[in-house]
Amino acid sequence: MKNFTYHQSTKILFGRGRVNELAEVVSQYGKRVLLVTTPAASPSLEDQYKSIKEILTSAGIVVVHFDGVMPNPTTAIISAGAVMARETDVQVIIGLGGGSSMDAAKAISVEATHPGTSWDYLFYKSPQPDASKLLPVIAVSTTSGTGSQVTQVAVITNAEHRDKSALYNNILYPQVCIVDPELMISVPEFVTATTGFDVLCHAFESTINSGTGAYVDLLAWEAISLVAGYLPKVLRNLGDLEAREKMAWADTLAGLCIANAGVTLPHGMGMAVGGMYPHVAHGEALAILYPAFADFTWEAAVPQFSKISRILNPSLVGVSDQEAASKSPDEIVKFLKLIGLNKKLRDVNMPEAEIEALAKQCMVLPDYKGNPRVATFEEMVQLVRLSF
Ligand code: NAD
Repeated sequence: MKNFTYHQSTKILFGRGRVNELAEVVSQYGKRVLLVTTPAASPSLEDQYKSIKEILTSAGIVVVHFDGVMPNPTTAIISAGAVMARETDVQVIIGLGGGSSMDAAKAISVEATHPGTSWDYLFYKSPQPDASKLLPVIAVSTTSGTGSQVTQVAVITNAEHRDKSALYNNILYPQVCIVDPELMISVPEFVTATTGFDVLCHAFESTINSGTGAYVDLLAWEAISLVAGYLPKVLRNLGDLEAREKMAWADTLAGLCIANAGVTLPHGMGMAVGGMYPHVAHGEALAILYPAFADFTWEAAVPQFSKISRILNPSLVGVSDQEAASKSPDEIVKFLKLIGLNKKLRDVNMPEAEIEALAKQCMVLPDYKGNPRVATFEEMVQLVRLSF
């Protein structure tokens, strides 16, 4: 067997109703908490925030609510949250929501306790944050999703530079996460589809990444099978709690995979799309890029591409690995049609004139280099053009 290292320091509380344990969890770290969320844009989110605040305040915890997070959170948003954390002298930060809120919580923990801004602590910069200064972060995920509740990553966007990058450090794992599928029932159709597809991408990219190993492989294929079976089911009935629960499990597994193996080309490209066009949801960007990525890569990773083809279309069990793998771009497109995400970059209003600029940006993060076939600049332009 190939040697591997597997690390996970977040305590995971998984299951229906587990959010009721939030006050008990928070109390282990302090009595003053910053609750980090997106605005309550719907009555269901308003109800969710209200009941979570009640859980906390009834246990004597003081709650300061920062509800200024927007999808693909910017450095300005993180700074506003950090100012609030400092001014109110909180001891704990709760990230409640999807990846945007959980990542914002991690980045706020850094900026509130260190000089400069969160952008100064991106993964490749020095010095890195000091673990002894950070405020503890509790992640409560409400999408299935980014896996951020179990990762050491905080993705942030620099609107001024049209750049999306990440803090990445093992000291950024949330102390505890709560994954309660009952919080996910209210997730609207589009967010369910885009976040659900992100789960499949995390799991699949971790299987083709050179950093993969036996442990990650085990978790990843389970996550991919769960998404293939349950994402279409949730989309047929958004209130299907059992299907939501399976997706929440898949999301957690896939988060554990990326924390240990990392992502590859599509995520590097997806981050560039999110940085240049922040109105494009993360999972939507991945959905747009996946067919071209599969077409470009399958011959360099036949075992994995044949396996995903057969999960998406079990009738391919009888054909050779080579043939099954060659069908992966078509099988992915069929799955994207099934979940309503078969789109192109032109559909999300990317200007054609920016194809080369986007290709250049796709090569800023190192993720593309972890792909089994590494794209040259000319090939990257072609990948973007095909996705356009
Ligand atoms: P999101 O957090 O941006 O949320 C999308 C929308 O869904 C928001 O408007 C939010 O208010 C709404 N929403 C969330 N939960 C809801 C609920 N229960 N009911 C109703 N509405 C709800 O979406 P996301 O895809 O989870 O996160 C995307 C961000 O995470 C991106 O910035 C992405 O780059 C990042 N990301 C981080 C990691 C990581 O490891 N840290 C991994 C992948 C992606």
